[in-house]
Amino acid sequence: MELDKMDENDWKYHGEGNKSLVVSHVQFSRVLRLLKYPAEDSENPPQTVEQAFRQIQNIVDFSSNVMSSLLGDKFIHSGEVVKLPLEFVRQLSIKVQHQRPAWRCDKVMDIYSGCALCLPNLTSPVLHQPTHTPPLCIEIKPKCGFLPSSKHVSKDIKTKVCRFCMHQHYKVANGKWKRPSLYCPLDLFSGNRQRMHFAIRHLIEEPQNNFKIFKGGQCIYSSKEVSDDSMDLNCLLHHLRPYFLYGNNRINSHMTSKAVLNDFITVLVNALLSGGDGEVVTDSRGEGRSFCEASLFNKERIRPGSQGLPSDSVLFRILQTQMLDTLDVEGLYPLYRRVEQHLQDFPKERTRLQMEGPYNEAFLEKLQKCPTEDDGSVEYAVAKVHQYRVAMTAKDCSIMVALVPGSEEEEDDEGIPTQRRLRDFLSSRPPALSYSVSILDLDPKPFDSIPSQLRLDQKIVSCYLRTGGALP
Ligand code: ATP
Ligand code: ZN
Ligand code: MG
Ligand code: MG
Repeated sequence: MELDKMDENDWKYHGEGNKSLVVSHVQFSRVLRLLKYPAEDSENPPQTVEQAFRQIQNIVDFSSNVMSSLLGDKFIHSGEVVKLPLEFVRQLSIKVQHQRPAWRCDKVMDIYSGCALCLPNLTSPVLHQPTHTPPLCIEIKPKCGFLPSSKHVSKDIKTKVCRFCMHQHYKVANGKWKRPSLYCPLDLFSGNRQRMHFAIRHLIEEPQNNFKIFKGGQCIYSSKEVSDDSMDLNCLLHHLRPYFLYGNNRINSHMTSKAVLNDFITVLVNALLSGGDGEVVTDSRGEGRSFCEASLFNKERIRPGSQGLPSDSVLFRILQTQMLDTLDVEGLYPLYRRVEQHLQDFPKERTRLQMEGPYNEAFLEKLQKCPTEDDGSVEYAVAKVHQYRVAMTAKDCSIMVALVPGSEEEEDDEGIPTQRRLRDFLSSRPPALSYSVSILDLDPKPFDSIPSQLRLDQKIVSCYLRTGGALP
């Protein structure tokens, strides 16, 4: 990619979140992730070029030095900051505008700094051998997978109903979504295959911004502004079918839709539990505490002996990092205040305490070497704040599972492709789908956002209590 010869025709709209807009290259497996800011500020960029560059460099550093050490570097691609010609960025912003969903247009793409993050395109992985069927990539934004057990939690409901389920309630009550999602993160993070299956089924039914499917780099399934559910699902099944036809079904194509969907979810569950030969960790959260009372999963259905996440699985690593939030926002807030007061008294301390980075090994050490008891020091408060911010990032990240169909000519252990097809035919075994798992969206969350986190928490809980958990 030659940065001085950038052409907007080589790039297309790929997707966006709350903070950034992503375009993908039409030919190479690359994306550019550009910052967004509120539309009110569109005439007036909220930061200088240097600040924008620093912000993106901070994202790269946070991802590569902090999050990758906590989550496992095999899952992480941190990318690099690039400086783009302003004319290219302007043309790009015009080109993508009409493809953006209306509900995201309260923010505009940054066209002033020319800074962007360049990343590998995780929805079109580079293949060693071309395949008939393009890779299928599934993006899951799992959200928080545990119930708080901090003594600072003031409302009992928070120890029974998970944050996601309460937040759903709040979002439906406030018109953000028309229907609640029945997905519960505690089911996904349970490590129990039935519960995980149940969770993914509900992600498919109501994807909101927690679930997307890409085929050959193109988004083929996500939440729609106006949607016809049964048509969307039929369309999805049509896409999925070729990946899951095998054995007899490959010949007569009579595999039912239900079976296709089941196989798809099973493969996803396998990928999420994979990670090599790590031991399975029995649920350290304790029986009962790992269930959310709002989940519709029927506990009686659980077959015994299938609990826990393998310790090297992506879900385990994300959950462990989320659990660095040990105090809950209610317990953290007084420590936030302690730090804030200290910084008001000694503004120069901001740098030594690395409140806005740099996100290097020293930062990681600060949060890892946190004393277990509060000794009243500012160091303790800073370490807890850093831990909380890292946990917030892990509660907000996405998992990308890439499923790559084995090429038809690929030789198996017996070395004869026809033999494998015959064997698959006889045993009805699926064709090999290899998977790789990555984690994306690992931005540091600002220190200043903690007070608004506390307010949001209070609003969500009181809304839930007011309506008694019954959806309008
Ligand atoms: P959020 O609102 O979740 O915080 P964000 O604004 O931080 O989102 P991202 O989640 O990083 O933005 O990116 C937005 C979307 O772009 C993602 O959900 C994903 O679909 C796509 N995307 C981001 N990075 C990549 C990548 N490296 N490869 C492929 N697609 C990507
Ligand atoms: Zn829940
Ligand atoms: Mg995101
Ligand atoms: Mg983000």
